[in-house]
Amino acid sequence: MTRVCVVGPSGRMGTQVLAAVAAHPRLTIGSALDAATSVAIGSPVPGTEGAGAPIIVTADPLAALAAASVYIDFSVPAATRGLARAAIGRGVGAVIGTTGLGPEDDAAIDALAETSPVLVAANFSLGVNLMLHLVEQAARALADYDLEVVELHHKRKRDAPSGTALAIGHALARGRGHALSDVMTTGRSGDVGPRPPVEIGVLAVRGGDVIGEHTAYFFGEDERLEITHKAADRGLFARGAVHAAAWLVGKPPGRYEMADVLGLGS
Ligand code: NAD
Repeated sequence: MTRVCVVGPSGRMGTQVLAAVAAHPRLTIGSALDAATSVAIGSPVPGTEGAGAPIIVTADPLAALAAASVYIDFSVPAATRGLARAAIGRGVGAVIGTTGLGPEDDAAIDALAETSPVLVAANFSLGVNLMLHLVEQAARALADYDLEVVELHHKRKRDAPSGTALAIGHALARGRGHALSDVMTTGRSGDVGPRPPVEIGVLAVRGGDVIGEHTAYFFGEDERLEITHKAADRGLFARGAVHAAAWLVGKPPGRYEMADVLGLGS
């Protein structure tokens, strides 16, 4: 059995990851790492109280990494960055689902990928990863259509636009031969004037308990194409991340994508 370190086990995603690891035939929970301030520290991981000693939630990254071959991280960017740095040279694979990562976080993940296999995904669902391919093709084919992305998430989500909406934006921009950072707008207010044709809007809506919905719009003359993905349960993302962790173990160091795991090509 391959031992997994679950990061943020008290979180919305961490809870689902614990369940998905427990249900996987080739994976088992090796450790659970949470914030030093979390109420979960020192308590047993649910489901590990049975035979033998229970696994206790720890705030010690090195102890948590030593007890696992791969870690699955859905936490916050600062924690993801710190853990990536701590994992360098330890040969532990990393599956990272935290969103809102900045350049400093990415640099730490790149450094880890020199010594470990690392997979970062803003979304672990098959549907969204297929959608990334579809929207890139559509943006290329519908060359003069106006491109917009709208995402809906629950009211507790911290980062906006969502990592998935940005991934969709990047795919659309690739289809047009642009860098997203050169063409993206994340809001409009006041006398903004007519919409520049090159612009890609990436807009966030927040409220209630929405797990995650993303629509890419292609606006043409007299017609509109919409490609939408709706997530109905966080277990979807957790199962995808756990599937990715099982796939990643034993791979050479480097950065991998969900498209590699799902065989969708690049
Ligand atoms: P959450 O707030 O419910 O959970 C975050 C967890 O991280 C908590 O358990 C918290 O204690 C823990 N944490 C904070 N600091 C830590 C530290 N220093 N060390 C270890 N753990 C620490 O949030 P959530 O809804 O579970 O989302 C977590 C992240 O996952 C967000 O960035 C979210 O956008 C992302 N997410 C990604 C996907 C995907 O498919 N990639 C899907 C859903 C959510």
